[in-house]
Amino acid sequence: MTDALVLIDPAASTVEAADLDAPQLPVTDLSAHRGDGIFETVLVRLDDADVTVVSRERHFARFGASASALGLPDPDPELWNRALEAVIAKVRAADPLNTEFGVRYACSRGSQNPDGSQSPRGWAFNVPVDGKITRARTQGISAVSLDRGYDAYLGSKAPWLLIGAKTLSYAVNQAAGRYAAEQGADEALFVSHDGVVLEGPTSNLIIRRGERLLTPNPEAGLLSGTTQRLVFDHAGELGLTAEYADFGLGDVIAADGAWYVSSMRTAVTLNQLDGNPIARDEELTSKLQRVIMAG
Ligand code: PLP
Repeated sequence: MTDALVLIDPAASTVEAADLDAPQLPVTDLSAHRGDGIFETVLVRLDDADVTVVSRERHFARFGASASALGLPDPDPELWNRALEAVIAKVRAADPLNTEFGVRYACSRGSQNPDGSQSPRGWAFNVPVDGKITRARTQGISAVSLDRGYDAYLGSKAPWLLIGAKTLSYAVNQAAGRYAAEQGADEALFVSHDGVVLEGPTSNLIIRRGERLLTPNPEAGLLSGTTQRLVFDHAGELGLTAEYADFGLGDVIAADGAWYVSSMRTAVTLNQLDGNPIARDEELTSKLQRVIMAG
């Protein structure tokens, strides 16, 4: 797959093509050793001349909210859209048969200038929909529950924890994924210290109970997902209602279906939690995937 990278200078409002194999980031950049920055990953679907950037606006809105939480300058949607389009154009030109890929865009606080100011810098590049993702879409996944280490609804009392901002500090999320793999599971499921189900390290959880779709309340201490919100916006078309709710691990196991949802995975069935089987709803899985891919 072609590699397409663009560098974004938010202050100058410029987007310029760059070589992904060449060094780009000074080691002094605060994203490199502090994880101090924000990012988004969007799914791009190509069907002949049609290009769908799934939840383009939802991603830009969350990018802006994350910037605000970190005290970074408000991102200009026109600039970031230009970057997104530049990556898409390069991938399409080089690989016309490609039907699906992701674009990851990020804004770092940049390096500290001698006068103490900082110059945020951005970048965007394509990421493949790999075999792990396509397998998960067809076969589903298993998960183990892990204590997130804080009580539900802590975020409003401790805004400095940046719960709900999509920052470049994902070391904990990565470690949770490794821990889950060591336990023989595909994914982790974070649970608050007081027992409220939260999210996966890179996805939200939706469960079905009868004709209701339920997902943990973002205020409980998780990232508000673009995919989850897209599904909720279309729930009526699927004959379902959609609600935020607090629930525990037993509710996930007893559900009529459960899904991990995220931009790249779309919706994947959660088959098993902590070794307990969960009802599979193949028909709704296909419908959810179709609804999400349509953007
Ligand atoms: N929760 C976390 C912690 C994530 O990192 C992600 C996405 O990467 C999600 C949820 C799902 O968000 P989205 O549907 O916008 O991809």
